[in-house]
Amino acid sequence: MSLNHGRTILAIPGPSVIPDRVLTAMHRPSASIYDGELVEMTDGLLADLKRVAGTDGFAAIYLANGHGAWEAALRNTLNAGDKIVVLSNGFFSHKWGTVAQSLGLQVEFIEYGMTKSADPQRLEEVLGADKNGEIKAVLAVQSETSSSVRNDVVALRAAIDAAGHSALFMVDCIASLGCDRFEMDAFGVDVMVSAGQKGMMNPIGLAFVFFNDKADGARARANPGQYWDWIDRAKSESFYPRWSGSPPGHLMFALRETLDMMVHEEGMPAVWARHTTIAKAIWAACDVWAQAGSLHLNITDPAKRATGVTTINTLPGVAHKIRTWCQNEAGVTLGNSLGFPQEELEDHFRIGHMGHLNIHMIMGVLGAIETALIAQRIEHGSGALAAAAHMLSTHGNTGKDTK
Ligand SMILES: *Cc1c(COP(=O)(O)O)cnc(C)c1O
Repeated sequence: MSLNHGRTILAIPGPSVIPDRVLTAMHRPSASIYDGELVEMTDGLLADLKRVAGTDGFAAIYLANGHGAWEAALRNTLNAGDKIVVLSNGFFSHKWGTVAQSLGLQVEFIEYGMTKSADPQRLEEVLGADKNGEIKAVLAVQSETSSSVRNDVVALRAAIDAAGHSALFMVDCIASLGCDRFEMDAFGVDVMVSAGQKGMMNPIGLAFVFFNDKADGARARANPGQYWDWIDRAKSESFYPRWSGSPPGHLMFALRETLDMMVHEEGMPAVWARHTTIAKAIWAACDVWAQAGSLHLNITDPAKRATGVTTINTLPGVAHKIRTWCQNEAGVTLGNSLGFPQEELEDHFRIGHMGHLNIHMIMGVLGAIETALIAQRIEHGSGALAAAAHMLSTHGNTGKDTK
């Protein structure tokens, strides 16, 4: 006997919920790869992606997941033996560094652990000590999906400038594009990488790399190889080189639909504001549950939290109980523990709250967790759902009541 009938929800930090209209847009026969729609729509996809990223620079699309975007950014700008600095505050930022090592780069990791955002002061010191300008790039994530910490991209850029250093600044926005406010040109980012399946609401399969003229200058000295070369993808006048082979028609239709939703219908400021309110509602609920001591938010300072994913720490084994119960009894799949010590695998869980969400989905996920806490007799403060509802109710208010 189970109540678990009805539609399930994947509340993990990517892949995220794919809107029905995006699924519908893909439900059609393959389109011609010679002429017609696919040829005509490519310029528009690149132009609208640049609007999402906030850049007048260049955009390249790859048939890849986020790992492909990581590698593309490195291959186009760096050569084996080059020195780079990686700001590591969780699983993904560190992994980008190990991908760089696999390409023969010399990587200096600055480790911030699983609870701290990258400290601009420390970056400035490291770059300041590099008198000969040997460091060719600084790599950071905007939002670290494992710890759910958010780095202050603007402050990191300021640190690079304060050190008077010429290193390329490369930022991973895979978990944050379409969630956290990000404006590539205004933030002074040289290369930005992202992927389709998180805030962008697409199926897995598209990776995006954005770059400016400075980064393109570095491309002239690198040897990315034909597939990863961003030149033709971003700049070619003809269609076929833009995709380095057959274009992914169905994924292009999906992307067209999500870009319409984000850029032409809702608008990026509204997209960011929506994610902020939803994140605050989730944090409000967690803070109330936390009053009984069984669980708490991993990132203490609200200003340093990602807006698309929340990591929650629990007493030993409690996270595992919550996740298992939610999956088996409530139809809600929560994110696992990632990047923490192996012995803590059952002590962390994550809520993905990126992309296509509304109040009933958020309250449904929080309600499922609350039911799990009750069913599993896990001590928790009462009133969490009311706290979340209160926060959601304030969305769009411009008064003092949006506390
Ligand atoms: C998901 C994610 C990645 C990896 O993306 P894949 O598509 O799984 O390769 C990299 N960085 C961040 C910040 C992510 O959230």
